[in-house]
Amino acid sequence: MREPLIFEKSRRGRRGCSLPEYDVDEENLEKLIPKKYLRQSGLGLPQVSEPDVVRHFVRLSQQNMGVDTNFYPLGSCTMKYNPKVNEGIANLPGFTRVHPYQPQVGVQGTLRVLYEMEKLLCEISGMDSVSLQPAAGAHGELTSLMMIKAYYEDKKEHRDTVLVPDSAHGTNPSSSHLCGFRVIEVKSNKDGEIDLNDLMGKMSKRVAALMLTLPNTLGLFERNILEVSKIIHDKGGFLYLDGANLNALLGIVKPSDLGIDIMHFNLHKTFSTPHGGGGPGSGPVGVKGRLAVYLPVPTIKKDKKGYYLNYGRAKSIGKVRSFYGNIEVIIKAYCYLRSLGKEGLKKISHNAVLNANYLMKRLKKYFYLPYNQPCMHEFVLSAVDGKMKDVRALDIAKRLLDFGFHPPTIYFPLIVKEALMIEPTETESKETLDAFVSSMIQIRKEIKEDPSVIRQAPHNLSIGRLDEVKAAKELKLRWEEKESGD
Ligand SMILES: *Cc1c(COP(=O)(O)O)cnc(C)c1O
Repeated sequence: MREPLIFEKSRRGRRGCSLPEYDVDEENLEKLIPKKYLRQSGLGLPQVSEPDVVRHFVRLSQQNMGVDTNFYPLGSCTMKYNPKVNEGIANLPGFTRVHPYQPQVGVQGTLRVLYEMEKLLCEISGMDSVSLQPAAGAHGELTSLMMIKAYYEDKKEHRDTVLVPDSAHGTNPSSSHLCGFRVIEVKSNKDGEIDLNDLMGKMSKRVAALMLTLPNTLGLFERNILEVSKIIHDKGGFLYLDGANLNALLGIVKPSDLGIDIMHFNLHKTFSTPHGGGGPGSGPVGVKGRLAVYLPVPTIKKDKKGYYLNYGRAKSIGKVRSFYGNIEVIIKAYCYLRSLGKEGLKKISHNAVLNANYLMKRLKKYFYLPYNQPCMHEFVLSAVDGKMKDVRALDIAKRLLDFGFHPPTIYFPLIVKEALMIEPTETESKETLDAFVSSMIQIRKEIKEDPSVIRQAPHNLSIGRLDEVKAAKELKLRWEEKESGD
């Protein structure tokens, strides 16, 4: 069922509400606003009845795939279930009815949550200080690199290079570049981990930092992490952790114990707050001692009188976000942490890793697994296989939609051709995982017997296969219709 645009449903004169006759005199607008500022033609808004509006938007919402409706194994994104109790708490008027310009004495509850959240993230990561300001992971990366830059400028050391593994997320080189660094790529070895020889060859006194993702984007723990850390630190560089994959490590390892000096968290991934179409993110940064003076302002402090926003950091890189950060996201993540506690967090990682290994073990009988070893919270299959008859990762992803599954991440990481990156998360039941495996087995059979079914998928959705290049290059953003003129 194709739902038309709301503009297509428009009929001249149809209204969503009826108002009583005016009981005041009508004024000529030109008397109130100079003519040159007045709109000369109608606004062109759709004219629809109230039930039409309701049905339109409810239908659109039913066509959406989300974590609340479907299994959503989007690798690297950690699309985990968002406990509803957290929404309820973040919606309490004490949180929603505060204003950023309100005197701090009137927002003590919110400040306390922020203060405690900073402490919890320090505890989880082993970092000494945290700033909750950045609005997402990529923003956390940029903020961190700005601090590293400020550090070396202070020390009058000329370091203009950031090392980034070839398996890294695209935001790592982008953030480095945006911050004015030169980016050098470090190779992965045949096991999918950092190639130590390549790293040693590229590490120098010009290198400010290595940006490392752990587990890496293949879902593998870097077994040589302590060696890596030594290579970077021996030449005076910083070891940066892209914390997007923290879901595998909670309560098991502290990044600080591995030699991490600075990192970002993705609250919207690891700590369950809705993201993607569901809401904004939050990408706090954590640092070890010597970088703390560069943290963005404000951080949250506490004295005898209560909690307050501390702007007094002489060497701070300044503000990176308006007001206090994405507060509502932080509150939801805080609830998540508090409701799980220490033991609960550890269970999350255990179950996330267990679920991923279960799926991997079952699927590798049917699909090519380039890095065949136990994984952490996710793993990467490849659709490059002689027997696949020109079926691509994209085709498999589209066919999964027919079976009611959100597809995995595809074409990332770049070091795997035709990558399918699968991350099940900890809350999925064995039944859900088994249903996913059954569909993947069915797809494997179709590839063998009739690959055209896959290449034309999806068949069961309101919208079939799109020409994605055309859709991206020829955006149709304007509805031209004579009828809805007023
Ligand atoms: C998601 C992700 C990022 C970027 O985080 P955003 O919150 O989307 O900006 C960086 N690195 C990795 C490995 C990621 O998965």
